[in-house]
Amino acid sequence: MTDDSHADVLDNYAQVTAELAEAMAEAGRPAGSVRLVAVGKTHPAARMRPLLAAGHRLFGENRVQEAKDKWPELKAQFPDIQLHLIGPLQSNKVREAVALFDVIETVDRPKLAAALAAEIARSGRRLDCFIEVNTGSEPQKAGVLPAEADAFIEDCRGRWGLPIAGLMCIPPLDQDPVPHFQRLAELGRRHGLAALSMGMSADYRLAIKAGATHVRVGTAIFGRR
Ligand SMILES: *Cc1c(COP(=O)(O)O)cnc(C)c1O
Repeated sequence: MTDDSHADVLDNYAQVTAELAEAMAEAGRPAGSVRLVAVGKTHPAARMRPLLAAGHRLFGENRVQEAKDKWPELKAQFPDIQLHLIGPLQSNKVREAVALFDVIETVDRPKLAAALAAEIARSGRRLDCFIEVNTGSEPQKAGVLPAEADAFIEDCRGRWGLPIAGLMCIPPLDQDPVPHFQRLAELGRRHGLAALSMGMSADYRLAIKAGATHVRVGTAIFGRR
């Protein structure tokens, strides 16, 4: 990037927020019912700053280490930043993740749920958790399998007492995402979970139609990685 003004970020952001508003209106959803998680992964802090200057505060990162390198300084300057972890979380990174993130979207297995519950209790930090569901039952993908989701959600809330606010999914790349979004929304309804994190640069309009409350948009704002 030779242009260090990062003006492209603000242009892209304006376009995405306009399309978001349009998609909400088309879906008959009230303005503000869908939140934009700006996914900054691989892009430096300098590219986050135009959004912060414009008043945006909600961001996502998929790696704990990268977030640790990038966000503490920005958070010190803008204490109302809300940072979402949207990538896989290893149990040995739980302490760092709980210290840094405000929402952990990728709770997907008992060992992690137990470690998170213990660290939240130990640290006294307040944060929300989402459960990631592998809606396509893809073998290599993170997320609880749909067949195990009901029991896992109940265990997260009952057995571990985690503050579960919602669900998250990443549909298979080669499939129509809409049935996956619908499946996640149905699971959320069944468990009274209001937040649904679904939709990325390529498909967030479809996700909004299906009920997304959070869309995770990287490329459309920050450009290619
Ligand atoms: C990178 C990433 C995104 C953003 O993807 P784009 O296609 O760049 O908008 C969303 N969700 C997760 C989990 C990601 O890792």
